Amino acid sequence: MTNPPSPATHRPSSQRFLFPFLFLILYSLFLLITPKLSAQTQNTVSATSAPAQQALKTFTLDETLSALRLDAGLRSDAGLRPAAKSGETANFRWDPFLQSGAFSLGDHNGVFTAAAAAGETGFLLLDGREVFTVLLPYRQGGALVFPENFVKTLQGAFTRSFEDDASRFRIAAIIIDPGHGGKDPGAIGNPEVNSKPVRAVEKDIVLNVSKALNTQLSRAFPDKRVLMTRDRDVFYSLEERVAIANSVSLNENEAIIYISIHANYVFNQNVRGYEVWYLSPNYRRNVLDRSRYNDSADIIAIRNAMLEEEFTTESVILAQSILRSLGQTLGNTVPSRGIKAEEWFVVRNSHMPAVLVELGFVSNPQDAQMMTTEGGLQKLTEALYKGIIEFVSVFERSGGFTAAP
Ligand SMILES: [Zn+2]
Repeated sequence: MTNPPSPATHRPSSQRFLFPFLFLILYSLFLLITPKLSAQTQNTVSATSAPAQQALKTFTLDETLSALRLDAGLRSDAGLRPAAKSGETANFRWDPFLQSGAFSLGDHNGVFTAAAAAGETGFLLLDGREVFTVLLPYRQGGALVFPENFVKTLQGAFTRSFEDDASRFRIAAIIIDPGHGGKDPGAIGNPEVNSKPVRAVEKDIVLNVSKALNTQLSRAFPDKRVLMTRDRDVFYSLEERVAIANSVSLNENEAIIYISIHANYVFNQNVRGYEVWYLSPNYRRNVLDRSRYNDSADIIAIRNAMLEEEFTTESVILAQSILRSLGQTLGNTVPSRGIKAEEWFVVRNSHMPAVLVELGFVSNPQDAQMMTTEGGLQKLTEALYKGIIEFVSVFERSGGFTAAP
């Protein structure tokens, strides 16, 4: 009986050809991958053998610093502002006693302790909170040398930090609104101090404080826009003031704060003290520019409510910060009347966290004197300045409180 070859009988012979072929492919792949794996192992885990040291690519301090230049290795996307300016150079500090070095770029830093010899791994600490395992820099002929793995890790860490900074909420503008002006003097008081009347006019007091505050804030924040709704004795309607504030264009991650400055009046001359107002949480505003969003009306309403909530929270925190600073700067002798909520027009219609500060009572002798003498005005300005600075730094460091997505 003949067994004619069937397709089935040929299978083993074709497999016999296939197996060595597959083996060859896998083996050549293995050969291709192996040097990379071992190179990685040497770079990240240990490289104590002599051949590994020879293979180690290193940079000098100058080369490392230039690799860390923001415009060289780090991205700076248009419209976003990293903590380091484009072109800003990295700095290096060396502590010979601790044998530790620190690179800094903008607000960020990377700290390490040098190794005794090439190939040792250890920690690179970023901004005091993030740890990377790297091949450590070491001394060679009296100078520090930096392994490629170390430089690339540090560069990557800085790049990510700046990208995080850029997407973080920041205060782009501060609007100072001196109340009243021109034909509208605001409150006028003539209380007597030592039998002499002190003429205290709200529009002048708040303009003086606002101008001084504007100078201080502009100096403190060269990268922010500090604006005044009026810088002289002119009358602007409330609508015009709000329009000035709302005309400031913002990037997606930017916010404006609005500080309206006023002085109080009441018939009872004994009433005195400062107070800070913020927007009533019950009031619903149209805080979003609808043309920017394609969402349905329902979603816009929900977003508005959320943004409203956020602005309210931020307004309250700003109010607290200013009130606390007034207390610290003016001391116990001037009473704090606390934080109040009201639907002030300026505050209500501003598309931003906003507060209204009542510096004191023009009707009260001590308050009037404080608000009309240079020393008193300086103290009031200083209090507002410190309160705003504190708010801005907390806001920007925390990523915009509730604003972070
Ligand atoms: Zn007023």
